[in-house]
Amino acid sequence: MSNNSEHCCLSCGIDISNKRIDAKYCSDRCRMRYRRDQKNSKLLNELIDLFTQLPNHSVQQTDSELYLQSYNALSRKTENWHISELKSMSNQRLKDLIKKKRWLLAGEGLTNMLFNRS
Ligand SMILES: [Zn+2]
Repeated sequence: MSNNSEHCCLSCGIDISNKRIDAKYCSDRCRMRYRRDQKNSKLLNELIDLFTQLPNHSVQQTDSELYLQSYNALSRKTENWHISELKSMSNQRLKDLIKKKRWLLAGEGLTNMLFNRS
């Protein structure tokens, strides 16, 4: 049934063939949501990357979903973040989390440097 003239909103997928030929979204709301989601998945990838590099951090996989796990040796607390949870977080919160993990990673690098110096 689909043909080349089919024209759908990139965000929600509804038919927008009644819109301008160069329109990508059905509404401003969808345009904003799409951009936010793009940014969100970029931030998520960055966070996953940090979790694979940090000690006491890992990326876990259940049957249905991926989640990030961190263990805080000081408070002896394990924290889990499910991907669906992270996806619903605001980008600002994700950025804060990434910043925190980057600091950890920087601190880790410094510790290694001091240890190896002998
Ligand atoms: Zn839409």
